[in-house]
Amino acid sequence: MTDLIRLTAAEIAAKIQAKEVSAVEVARAHLDRIDAVEPAVHAFLHIDGDRALQAAKAVDEDVAAGRPAASPLAGVPLALKDVLTMRGAPTTCGSKMLEGWEPPYDATVTLRLLEAGLVILGKTNMDEFAMGSSTENSAYGPTRNPWDLDRIPGGSGGGSAAALAAFEAPLAIGTDTGGSIRQPGSVTGTVGVKPTYGTVSRYGLVAFSSSLDQAGPCARTVLDAALLHEVIAGHDPLDSTSIDAPVPPVVAAAREGANADLKGLRVGVVTELAGEGYQPGVLAAFEAAVAQLRELGAEIVEVSCPSFDLALPAYYLIAPSECSSNLARFDAMRYGLRVGDDATRSAEEVMSLTREAGFGAEVKRRIMLGTYALSSGYYDAYYGSAQKVRTLIKRDFDAAFGQVDVLVSPTTPTTAFGIGERTDDPIAMYRADLCTIPSSMAGNAALSIPCGLSACDGLPVGLQIMSPALQDHRGYRVAAAYETARDAAQGGPLITRVPELEVAH
Ligand code: GLN
Repeated sequence: MTDLIRLTAAEIAAKIQAKEVSAVEVARAHLDRIDAVEPAVHAFLHIDGDRALQAAKAVDEDVAAGRPAASPLAGVPLALKDVLTMRGAPTTCGSKMLEGWEPPYDATVTLRLLEAGLVILGKTNMDEFAMGSSTENSAYGPTRNPWDLDRIPGGSGGGSAAALAAFEAPLAIGTDTGGSIRQPGSVTGTVGVKPTYGTVSRYGLVAFSSSLDQAGPCARTVLDAALLHEVIAGHDPLDSTSIDAPVPPVVAAAREGANADLKGLRVGVVTELAGEGYQPGVLAAFEAAVAQLRELGAEIVEVSCPSFDLALPAYYLIAPSECSSNLARFDAMRYGLRVGDDATRSAEEVMSLTREAGFGAEVKRRIMLGTYALSSGYYDAYYGSAQKVRTLIKRDFDAAFGQVDVLVSPTTPTTAFGIGERTDDPIAMYRADLCTIPSSMAGNAALSIPCGLSACDGLPVGLQIMSPALQDHRGYRVAAAYETARDAAQGGPLITRVPELEVAH
């Protein structure tokens, strides 16, 4: 059974169709693994083994009856971030505010997964309402990094990334507002992709910052991420920001790239996304990855994007502003928690008591920051200026993509930090997204792929590849070519070096 959990999603799907293994066996192997390692890792907030086995059985019945597979991923187990709704399961967003809430509808992403025959194992842990870089802001306790259980798995989607790195699932869904797919991918040695904004439906994705939020695939290989990407992407009339355009051909790009060189490709290294504050081991692994791209035939060019220096402060005005508005809906009346509701109290008092009890410290900080930034008299100085910076970032990208095909940087300035290390220092925590925020602000496509281990601490480092909007396939092509070269150079995929988790808790 242990070999089943080490297979890629593409291999699992092929073996199921070839009747070499049943979807039920695959689901069981992953559920056994979850049983064994969850006490140590805590990647999940909710696990539904029966439902997963039922979904797997349905796939096996299709195979037995000779019906065509619902998708190239039929029967593959998947972990879903707990910020996406799924009928018949709780959605908490890592918050006490939504404890016990069962949404009456499926998110479009969830629906597409179910229709594609994916086997959803459960919902993964996350920073409360996706605000954070470590999962320590979850009201249900942190997730631990499978590479070192005393370290964070990144955030906000640390549960999804840890589930992959711990071999609890071969695929996961994350959401990325400022880096919540890519940064967890980077620090857990997994692949994380933020698709172009508007290409994956936000319907049923509980909103944090609506102009930035984007769901995307998490996997252990580039091809697996691409296969999942094509299942979830595509126009959705239920999301007003959904783009009505063909899904970028990411699977073809991943397949082609795996056996191709990069001759003729221009790769820009962003000057502003390296230097002071970056761990030397991260910079060294990044430089080695760039050297590998050059060896593959790419032309490497230094590119300056000066406004990226302003991206982090601008993000911390825009995201909290949108959050303060979005989270107003948690008013003790419509969802989840209600505190102090007796005849003596007014609705306002109940609302205030509920929000005091239901939201954690970081969420409250963001709501207050955002309310302040949007208040009359300050609006232009804060929110207005941040929007102008957003335009400058977009222009820097446009100018850069006029010169190069893709841009690269480290995904995050350091490897996984220790649990508790940054909880008292919000700015240090926010800096984890220094490299990922520019693409979020511009809405273009960006992914993180493991690029070796830091010589400082032996922990995984991520290479970020950024592509213009709707050119997601460019990033996949480069990532796939790099992945093949990387594995050849180091004698096998990075992920197989994950030490087998001790299971004595
Ligand atoms: N870490 C960033 C934040 O706290 C990004 C989170 C995200 O992408 N959801 O806002």
